[in-house]
Amino acid sequence: MNEVISDATVKTRKNHICLGCLQSFPPGSIMHKQTNIFEGSIGSVYTCPACEELKKYIDPEDGWWMEGYTHDAIEGTDESPESYLEKLRSTSAQDSGKEEP
Ligand SMILES: [Zn+2]
Repeated sequence: MNEVISDATVKTRKNHICLGCLQSFPPGSIMHKQTNIFEGSIGSVYTCPACEELKKYIDPEDGWWMEGYTHDAIEGTDESPESYLEKLRSTSAQDSGKEEP
């Protein structure tokens, strides 16, 4: 089981790899930091703003986003996390438009 202890947007003080796209972000980047207890140990994961928003569109596995969830979704395409997010945003906007009476 996974328990979220804190969820915050931070300005990083060192390099962090984004959980979603697996890209490295330099110190001073704005990233989302989530601290968890997972199987008894505490740890933090960082996601870039695009991958953080992608969580709205990508279903977690067992309530947990697997490492590389954005990377896997765009692998083999020429999409960046940002362009992939843009595509999902416009798709979901169209879908919700169709549901209007
Ligand atoms: Zn990312």
